[in-house]
Amino acid sequence: MERMELADSHGREPDRPFTLVIVGGVAGGMSCAARARRLNESAKVIVLERGPHVSFANCGLPYHVGGEIPDAGSLLVQTPESLRAALNLDVRTGHEVVDIDSGAHEVHVKTQAGEERLHYDALVLAPGARAVPLPVEGLDGPGVRTLRSVEDAVSLKRAVDDGARTAVVLGAGFIGLEAAEVLAERGLAVTVVEAAAQVLPPLEPELASLIAAELERLGVMVRVGVTALRVSQAEAGKVVELSDGAGVQADLIIVAAGVVPDTEAFERAGVECSGRAIVVDDHGRTSLPDVWAVGDAVEATDAVTGGPRAALLAGPANRAGRLVADAIMRPGSARAIPAVVGTAIVRVGNLTAAMTGANRTTLARAGIVHETIHLHPLQHAGYFPGAAPIHLVMHISPDGRILGAQAVGEDGTDKRIDVLATAIRVGLSAADLIDLDLAYAPQYGQAKDAVNLAGMVASNVLDSTLRLWHAEDWKQEDVTSLLLDVRTREEYADGHLPGALNVPHTEIRMRLDEVTEAAAGRPVRVICKSGVRSAIAHRILTQHDIESASLSGGMLTLSALLGARAAEILVRN
Ligand code: FAD
Repeated sequence: MERMELADSHGREPDRPFTLVIVGGVAGGMSCAARARRLNESAKVIVLERGPHVSFANCGLPYHVGGEIPDAGSLLVQTPESLRAALNLDVRTGHEVVDIDSGAHEVHVKTQAGEERLHYDALVLAPGARAVPLPVEGLDGPGVRTLRSVEDAVSLKRAVDDGARTAVVLGAGFIGLEAAEVLAERGLAVTVVEAAAQVLPPLEPELASLIAAELERLGVMVRVGVTALRVSQAEAGKVVELSDGAGVQADLIIVAAGVVPDTEAFERAGVECSGRAIVVDDHGRTSLPDVWAVGDAVEATDAVTGGPRAALLAGPANRAGRLVADAIMRPGSARAIPAVVGTAIVRVGNLTAAMTGANRTTLARAGIVHETIHLHPLQHAGYFPGAAPIHLVMHISPDGRILGAQAVGEDGTDKRIDVLATAIRVGLSAADLIDLDLAYAPQYGQAKDAVNLAGMVASNVLDSTLRLWHAEDWKQEDVTSLLLDVRTREEYADGHLPGALNVPHTEIRMRLDEVTEAAAGRPVRVICKSGVRSAIAHRILTQHDIESASLSGGMLTLSALLGARAAEILVRN
């Protein structure tokens, strides 16, 4: 029955088996192949992969270098043989698709034996992305690596085993930081070079500085706001010359400065691309008939802004591959590929950084009005050993929509961001977060979980119970407002903003006249450590008709935003 339906929908001769050809045999491509087989036992499913392996665990590559995954073989999740046995897939490695003849429904394939043509009824492009080539003079030779294939990981590990002592990682994105972490753990002197002003550029700056500090704790030298200009050969080895004039010695140079969709051959063949990514509709169809595309190579739609975005993540690629198989094998009932929320996570030393939805930059670019809240709740009950803060940032729209969230912390950071990712996907409002029944025992959370608290703070902001001011405005507020620090005298003495008046929050009610006098008609900007005590003080002041606002995230957020400048700016006395 399914064979007949396919013959009808694709105009194929009924006596020839339906042939699905998939280009790229890893995340998106292999998910598509496996699902296609499960839906259609009689189709021919051919996977063409340029490299020597399919279904390998790209995400595990750094951890083979670091030694946590000692056996490179365990990165090979499947082999052509296992895929033939389990799913009757025809998987051909060492096969590179170099052209599409869409009129003839053929792909041109380059193999070691020469070039061949292969017929398809349906073609799925899942070629992924490749490392951005950097315009750095001398960036070639044996010490220069990327980390994109099993071979890359094996040879990088070998170089470390063979005694490499120094490494420069170009790029402080996810893969760059993973590489830096594992190389530092292996004992190398590692320098990370990042052109942007901070590590992990998609992370809000007040969180990124926590990750930079953790890298430094691991012994990694962090150089942000600089670029590599050239690599020169000195007597002692390679030296990476930076735009600020510094030179860094490097036995190994790891290029991790981002990726671009690997679409050149397909663009040449007439597949419509925008900025090099393949344009697809919500079922993954490209501009060519019977040609679909998924994964890193396609332009995705952002679930928050509705605009185009890259989604260079394994989850969306895998799921889109599955849905494209549905679109090909069950065209009548296939679900559309959903817009991408963009949830991502990385481990750096003892910390985890995780994010979902839009960040401030994306929201500003899209012109989306929003409020940002900061919290530092503990990941589990404070009285249970090992309690540590989760530094949480959440963006909300004036109508309560959750636009994005980011967190840095120890254990439990992934759980909070996953709950918030789910909330964004299903369209929960900030107030709905208050009502979530989340698993609680002292080892795992708090009776008011971090996510519940985020909902409470957001709701207070949205209904004006709480008015916030933000750390990035401290200089301006210093001039136009009274800065009121409501921490204890000891905390205040340990570092406060210049000019801030100290009235501990327990004394506010008794010292209102003093506050009014010091404000001299100016609004009051209240400060505490995390934003809890300042919110209490703000409520007292407001109910006495004193205009005030509470510092979002308190001194923890302000200090993190100031980073190394905090030592110069904050006054100790
Ligand atoms: P890929 O999985 O990259 O597969 C594309 C395949 O197509 C490649 O094997 C390539 O050789 C082949 N190919 C390309 N062109 C041709 C051609 N013309 N002919 C034949 N074959 C071709 N994502 C996460 O969500 N979490 C992580 O922790 C994470 N960690 C990562 C760590 C590393 C080191 C790397 C490299 C990536 C990581 N990613 C992670 C990203 C994730 O792996 C990708 O988003 C995902 O694999 C994309 O799937 P894809 O199918 O589009 O492409």
